[in-house]
Amino acid sequence: MSTDCFQIEARCGSARAGRLRTAHGDVETPVFMPVGTLATVKGVPQETLEELGVEILLANTYHLFLRPGTDTIRQLGGLHGFMSWERAILTDSGGYQVFSLSDLRKVREEGVEFRSHLDGALHFLSPETATAAQIALGADVIMAFDECTEYPTEHQHARQSMEMTARWAERCKKYFEEHRGEVPWGQVSSFKFQVSSSGARNSKLETGNSSQLLFGIVQGGMYADLRQESAGRTVEIGFPGYAIGGLSVGESRSLTREMVEATLPHLPQDQPRYLMGVGTPDEIVEYAALGIDMMDCVLPTRAARHGLLYTSEGKLAIKNARFAQDEGPVDPRCGCRVCARYSRAYLRHLYSSNESLAAVLNTIHNLAFYLDTMRRVRQSIKLRHLEALLSEVRSHSLNSSTQGEDPA
Ligand SMILES: [Zn+2]
Repeated sequence: MSTDCFQIEARCGSARAGRLRTAHGDVETPVFMPVGTLATVKGVPQETLEELGVEILLANTYHLFLRPGTDTIRQLGGLHGFMSWERAILTDSGGYQVFSLSDLRKVREEGVEFRSHLDGALHFLSPETATAAQIALGADVIMAFDECTEYPTEHQHARQSMEMTARWAERCKKYFEEHRGEVPWGQVSSFKFQVSSSGARNSKLETGNSSQLLFGIVQGGMYADLRQESAGRTVEIGFPGYAIGGLSVGESRSLTREMVEATLPHLPQDQPRYLMGVGTPDEIVEYAALGIDMMDCVLPTRAARHGLLYTSEGKLAIKNARFAQDEGPVDPRCGCRVCARYSRAYLRHLYSSNESLAAVLNTIHNLAFYLDTMRRVRQSIKLRHLEALLSEVRSHSLNSSTQGEDPA
């Protein structure tokens, strides 16, 4: 399997700093991907995401499949054209949402029948239809359709589920290889081949990968032996990158970490590794240190809408009365436009008054904090100083539990 979509540029212990090459530009890794479920990072316009330095964002296939529909988005130029975003996008397969949001699902070998959480209409997603939906959406990185094993679950059931995910992964790959040319920007990449043969270099697409990248997903519940076996089977099928799925589903943080540590040695060293649905600011640093290259989580954006702000001093709840007259910025060490302009007192007022600007400004700050944390991770890996950053974030995570409350 080709690995030219990923280049490792520096290592520090198990951590790696590298570059994921996509059809819509390079992504510096380790990377945190903001979640834009419905083709929008709630409350933040695309130009602000660009200004924050977002190189890749995530959108959810399940939600877009139900509304406005993947055919509609294809006709409007795929997600890039539809939402006017020229940088990279990753879509999940819809598997996780089908298992967490929809009612009355029936899981069979063929696929999953489920009722929409919006209107109760009956739908069907399978490895083939989920891959077709993601080709229509046209994200740069797309995911194999997997069954997210519920937690807790018995070993026998986790094994059956993991084995079905492996069979589904093969079907996803087969469908993808037969239909990859149907991506909405496919004609652009064939143009690329014409111009590059003459040596011209005037298209952004020329610098990256000209195809979508389909990643496999490791499952196996909370059982290290199943995680290892799932990794082996998924790698045997062969993908340009691998995700670790089915974690952060209610288990303890130490168990999440244990499963990640059980999986990583069985994934190829030179290919990107994506840990799905993780985590807090200190967790994303910890996982980057273990050798994870890509992460996504709703935490910074969802917490922001609940008035919870991440800072270099830990987490704070902006509604707290002690901020009512506080003229200082959210985080004196943050360089974001919110911290440069607005006081804690003003942000507290907006949040207490239920003003929509509260969610906008809080989200911009939290994303800036996460992206800046990852920038520091990449820098620390390149300088081989990651240990120092790790001890810094560990000490702040001890503070943070006393300052806020969990949004979950
Ligand atoms: Zn800020």
